[in-house]
Amino acid sequence: MGEHWLASFALLALTAGEEAQGPVTAATSALREGRLVLLPTETVYGLAADAGNPRAVAAVYAAKGRPAFNPLIAHVASVEAAREIAVLSPEAEILAAAFWPGPLTLVLPVQPGGRVCDLARAGLDTVAVRVPAHPLARAVLEAFGGPVAAPSANRSGRPSPTNFAAAMAETGEEAAVALDGGPCEVGLESTVVSLLDQPRLLRPGRVTREEVEALVGPLAEAEADARRSPGRLTRHYAPEAPVRLEAEGARPGEIFLAFGPAPEGAEVLNLSPAGDLVEAAANLFSF
Ligand code: AMP
Ligand code: MG
Repeated sequence: MGEHWLASFALLALTAGEEAQGPVTAATSALREGRLVLLPTETVYGLAADAGNPRAVAAVYAAKGRPAFNPLIAHVASVEAAREIAVLSPEAEILAAAFWPGPLTLVLPVQPGGRVCDLARAGLDTVAVRVPAHPLARAVLEAFGGPVAAPSANRSGRPSPTNFAAAMAETGEEAAVALDGGPCEVGLESTVVSLLDQPRLLRPGRVTREEVEALVGPLAEAEADARRSPGRLTRHYAPEAPVRLEAEGARPGEIFLAFGPAPEGAEVLNLSPAGDLVEAAANLFSF
């Protein structure tokens, strides 16, 4: 593990201009050297590498214990940068204009000659692209100037980290630079929409099906074939403790994850006392 940067310093660096560019410069240098960066985004923390460097991308798969058939999302700073690595259909342009920067990932045909290496795409002729909204992620992407492959920073199969401490505990050891951007505002992974044959919802997220359908019409279901969207494996987001669903309270030794009005107590963590799904999503993984 190399350098840590605290949120206050990082945000100071963003506002103070050239003298205090420390965290962003450290991150971009590490990426250029093929090393890994713990990168906050508004969805979850990512473990980031230069998407054009197969050795660096291999290190991401290794750090996560992620099977190499499960491709990574390429993060870029702008729609123009997305067009350099992917072919954007008219529908893709509409969704990009509406939701980027933000928690929507688009699966698109790869742009011939684009920088995202085969390994980051798991050998597919498609690429998953997103423009994140977190100011620190944007600053790093703009300064780096190329696509950054960044899956969630958890070890494969575990819940995604939504705060700095959780991210450090998962893959901090493997990162050369770790940026603390505070708790993730969305707290869930990005919504993944494939625009290959017809618009298709591969993974639900903060951007809702209804919001996407309002712009591009009905979304088809994800195909049963998990190879088309390898993130939909049966075992995914597994915490270390056993989970009992539809519980109405904690039994001895349990913690009750409540939603809506519920009794308070040391054994109760309420995802959203007000019953707000957005608030609950932001708390889910950290709880
Ligand atoms: P993560 O970065 O861990 O949040 O996971 C990225 C998600 O995007 C996973 O569900 C991947 O399977 C999915 N994904 C990435 N690239 C592609 C692609 N080219 N085609 C289909 N799904 C993809
Ligand atoms: Mg993940």
